[in-house]
Amino acid sequence: MNKSNSIKYLLLTLTTSIFISETLVMLLIDMLPPLLKWQESLLDATLLSILVFPAIYLFAFRPLKIQIANYARSEAQLRIAAIAFEGQAGIMITDANANILKVNKTFTKLTGYSNKDVIGKNPRMLSSGRHDANFYSRMWENINNTGSWEGEIWNERKNGDKFLEHIIITAVKDVNNIISNYVGTLTDITASDIAAKKIKHLAFYDPLTGLPNRALLQDRLKLALASTQRNELHGALLFIDLDNFKSLNDTLGHNMGDLMLQQVAERLLANVREIDTVARLGGDEFVVVLENLSEDVNEAAGQAELISNKILEALSHPYSMVIHNYQSTASIGITLFNRHKKNIDELLKQADIAMYQAKASGRDKQRFFDVQMQTNIENRVLLEKQLQQALVENQFILYYQPQVRHNGQIIGAEVLVRWRHPQRDIVSPLDFIPLAEETGLILPIGKWVVNSACAQIKKWENKTLTQHLQLAVNISARQFHQTNFVDEISQIIDHIGIKPEKLKLELTETLVLDDIDDTIVKMTALREIGVHFSMDDFGTGYSSLSNLKKLPFDQIKIDQSFVRDIINSPDDAIIVQTIIAMAQNFNIDIIAEGVETEEQRAFLEQHNCPTIQGYLFGKPMPIEQFELLLNAKPNST
Ligand code: C2E
Ligand code: CA
Ligand code: CA
Repeated sequence: MNKSNSIKYLLLTLTTSIFISETLVMLLIDMLPPLLKWQESLLDATLLSILVFPAIYLFAFRPLKIQIANYARSEAQLRIAAIAFEGQAGIMITDANANILKVNKTFTKLTGYSNKDVIGKNPRMLSSGRHDANFYSRMWENINNTGSWEGEIWNERKNGDKFLEHIIITAVKDVNNIISNYVGTLTDITASDIAAKKIKHLAFYDPLTGLPNRALLQDRLKLALASTQRNELHGALLFIDLDNFKSLNDTLGHNMGDLMLQQVAERLLANVREIDTVARLGGDEFVVVLENLSEDVNEAAGQAELISNKILEALSHPYSMVIHNYQSTASIGITLFNRHKKNIDELLKQADIAMYQAKASGRDKQRFFDVQMQTNIENRVLLEKQLQQALVENQFILYYQPQVRHNGQIIGAEVLVRWRHPQRDIVSPLDFIPLAEETGLILPIGKWVVNSACAQIKKWENKTLTQHLQLAVNISARQFHQTNFVDEISQIIDHIGIKPEKLKLELTETLVLDDIDDTIVKMTALREIGVHFSMDDFGTGYSSLSNLKKLPFDQIKIDQSFVRDIINSPDDAIIVQTIIAMAQNFNIDIIAEGVETEEQRAFLEQHNCPTIQGYLFGKPMPIEQFELLLNAKPNST
């Protein structure tokens, strides 16, 4: 017993001195009885110590050391688990029958239920009623089949508030692979769900009117096109643009503009069916998509027209703008689609083109898109591009049409621009001047014409045959109404160094009347430096005599439409005679254009119109030809 006591003591000190661990000591003590039994049969304690200590080391101590390390590790894991358990997520642990065993503090914070409230209960006590039985049975099926389920569930807090949680439910299995527990980890995502919805709303809806925006419209159109693939029906796309919205914005301010746009949105919604889409593209542009129109294209067009008329009507009623009412109208472009159509962008483009046609035909109108319309537009776009190119590549030339006395003496010419198009014949100004005026390209083109005419005058300056010639240049309204028009002309004159009176500017009646005060100022300024003016196309506009008196014109040009019928139409003959008499009265020079026959010339001579221009004496021609003509008429000086 002594010996056994000493061994016990030895072992105890040894082990406790190395590892002060309660568990270790307990385990060693457990191992002692068989060990002591075995040493009793031994005689020598020394032998015992020689044999036993390595054995203890090998068979007991080393495994113990490993076990202790494991223990320490699992303790750390437990600590981690404990910290994790009380982390940011709510946790609920149930038994195999889904009766709650334990919940953490976050769970309580989230749901309002404490451990006490929930222990032994089924998690369905949290149910909000927003999911049906199917939802839960699918969830459980998934957990039991795959071991887990993850998703979003609307639950209810103790105070009755509903909340959206993201939950991961994991089944825990025991050593026999039988489910022993379920662990649910839940986070409240109500706030982020609301935020996400808000973001989604911002991404797809116009904040001002609440209508779908361009992105959502694209989606809806995609669906509408897809549905025409299935049925044989038509749909229509209406492009709506408010008339003169910009001026409302400018005069009454953007707040009033916003107010109006909101009312427009309401009226649009009120005038379409439930299945139709009303969207705002931005600014004052709205789009309506009509679905399920007739299978028959004409009938469908009729239906679209009806709704679009209703919309025009609705949009023309006064808008209440806080202090007063505001009257406005809209223009609508319509294009139809069915299963054979089309790409969304193309549809939008077509409706947009049709809308511009509606505007061009006087506003408060609707127009349907058709192919001819598109061709015209595309041609214009192409022409505009080519016109720009023409300027860069110097493709314009001037033709000269002689202006003569009755004896055939050439006193000058009207310069008329031509376009030497690289792929076409010479292009008439009638085919490109209107577009140039619309696009503003008339400004550089017009400047080029004035420059070229002045350069020609300069070339003629020192030749006796040509130095007296005056050139008439057509000036378009847009060019004349530029603020720096006077400067531009006088700079060209100065720069090239010509006598200003050799330049005659032709202004039309409509140009002059457009802004008569501006006209007077500019004409007077240029008249002062010596430039001459001729009133082109006289008789076609509405100039009154008093207007004519106010304006410093040197010449009136009788329009060719009167000259044409001068012989056959007594009315025209009288008009021409009256114009001539009036001009003489005001001491203004006079010229008649479009003189094609000897009879016309004779009439004009007889009625004292001293100067004439027309095919009878020469069509507009290139400079070489014009100079040949001058040389052929040496008596013209
Ligand atoms: P416009 O100023 O009234 O020019 C007279 C037009 O009548 C010219 O047509 C001329 O060729 C044509 N004409 C002249 N004599 C006769 C005639 O006896 N019979 C007939 N049937 N026609 C005659 P064009 O050259 O085609 O020019 C057409 C219009 O283009 C011009 O009308 C003018 O408004 C515009 N235009 C031409 N050149 C210019 C330019 O350099 N600048 C601007 N802004 N417009 C121009
Ligand atoms: Ca002219
Ligand atoms: Ca004319």
